Amino acid sequence: MAKAIAKKNTTAKSAAPKKAAPAVKKNTIKLSFDTLHYAPAPESKSSAKIDAQYNLFINGKFVKSQSGQYYDTINPATEEKITSVAEGNAKDVDIAVKAARKAYEGVWGKMPAKERSKYIYRIARMIQERARELSIIETLDGGKPIRESRDVDVPLAANHFFYNAGWADKLSYAFPNKNPQPLGVAGQILPWNFPLLMAAWKIAPALATGNAVVLKPAKTTSLTALKLAEIIQEADLPPGVVNIITGNGSSMGMALVNHPDVNKIAFTGSTDVGKVIQKAIAGTNKKLTLELGGKGANIIFDDAALDQAVEGIINGIFFNQGHVCCAGSRLFVQESVYPEVLRKLKDRIATLIVGDPLDKNTDIGAINSKQQLDTIQKYINIGKKEGAEIIESTCAMPKKGFFCRPTLFTNLAQSSRLVQEEIFGPVLTIQTFRTDDEVIEKANNTPFGLSAGVWTDKGSKVFNMTTKLRAGVVWANTFNKFDPTSPFGGYKESGFGREGGMHGLAAYLRV
Ligand code: NAD
Repeated sequence: MAKAIAKKNTTAKSAAPKKAAPAVKKNTIKLSFDTLHYAPAPESKSSAKIDAQYNLFINGKFVKSQSGQYYDTINPATEEKITSVAEGNAKDVDIAVKAARKAYEGVWGKMPAKERSKYIYRIARMIQERARELSIIETLDGGKPIRESRDVDVPLAANHFFYNAGWADKLSYAFPNKNPQPLGVAGQILPWNFPLLMAAWKIAPALATGNAVVLKPAKTTSLTALKLAEIIQEADLPPGVVNIITGNGSSMGMALVNHPDVNKIAFTGSTDVGKVIQKAIAGTNKKLTLELGGKGANIIFDDAALDQAVEGIINGIFFNQGHVCCAGSRLFVQESVYPEVLRKLKDRIATLIVGDPLDKNTDIGAINSKQQLDTIQKYINIGKKEGAEIIESTCAMPKKGFFCRPTLFTNLAQSSRLVQEEIFGPVLTIQTFRTDDEVIEKANNTPFGLSAGVWTDKGSKVFNMTTKLRAGVVWANTFNKFDPTSPFGGYKESGFGREGGMHGLAAYLRV
């Protein structure tokens, strides 16, 4: 996807008028709207300043955790420590929930929606202003290529705030005659694959709808959420409206889920943990949305533009090292074009660069943790044992850090664990099909239902597939395109509830 974006930007540049455009005053609203559509954030001057220690953000202040303990956060590309982050516990959760409740019952709950909206806009602008810093820290902490942090994660995070800011005073238009009311305190739990972006997905609609928030990022990637806390503090958001607490999932995350004064849990993460949370919440009056795992099918029909399709397949699985819930991790190719597609895929993966995530030329950065690298390796070994044909790139590999070569598997049975289970790494399985019915049957045959892609020249085929594929999103002749205006979410074990668009707002409202 990053490549596609790079191309788009080049075109935009060359199409720009040769004459100097009329001077646009910097930092005006115009500039921010220019970037709303998925463009890179304006070049910011901020530098990546990382402190020696990070504390919890509660009630508008950075405070030590009750235990006084810290954990190390590691750069997965070098295996070196970046900094220390406060290890919170259930007591910290309770303090944060109390702060959120107070803000909700007080200043935030009473604030006119129009005023709320201004704070959300301000946060969006400040994300843009600190785009460079946020991109670098996202890449250091998470391992994703800087091109992706810079061109996707950070600008899209800002866009989520812009988009939701616009809704804050228009909720009665969005839900006419429904008297939309906030839920109260929202507990939000994040995964490690898109740390800042997921925080924006969750915080922005919660604020637009008038809720207060207690958010817990993933332990291996807490830094950009804490940088967002700095932004929120600088934006003068009233204390307690957003609290960001760091620590273990099973203790602190669970304490947030079980806290009696939390009205809603928004969880994004693995299907296994999602099920634990669903059970814990059963019987309480809490609202719940679960954004869980996926096993996206990318389908190439014989009438597709094959070069474009192959590029889309590459982006679909190798974007963010395959750490993408909606990654196109299963490829289905119509039999008549299979040899050609396979040849093109082999040629293309031979050009991919695995390496330093801070290098702008890197295509595939570091796997987020040793634990995740082991999981991916486990699946690769299973594939080998199953007798599948493995096609692995032979690119140079960094000497240190957690890295994995882009890997393709062919000749796998539909029942193979590689086809059925989420690997969450740069591993693509390839199967063939003859008819539409056959590929629909195969594509729907996993426990998940989050995403799919269809590559074809025929509009009628696209319509047919979108109605029959059990996936929350079906892309046509593109993949991994995200937009704050679109609802996103899954079927089956990929969860329920939608984030983004008006449906994302509804998830934080009582109507
Ligand atoms: P994870 O389930 O291990 O952890 C997610 C979060 O939950 C972390 O913050 C963790 O600390 C916390 N947690 C762990 N145990 C908990 C418990 N018992 N109670 C409360 N919180 C707990 O997932 P992960 O490995 O961080 O993320 C990868 C997973 O996330 C993948 O399965 C991926 O598909 C999924 N994901 C889904 C979406 C989506 O929109 N559907 C988006 C991104 C990632």
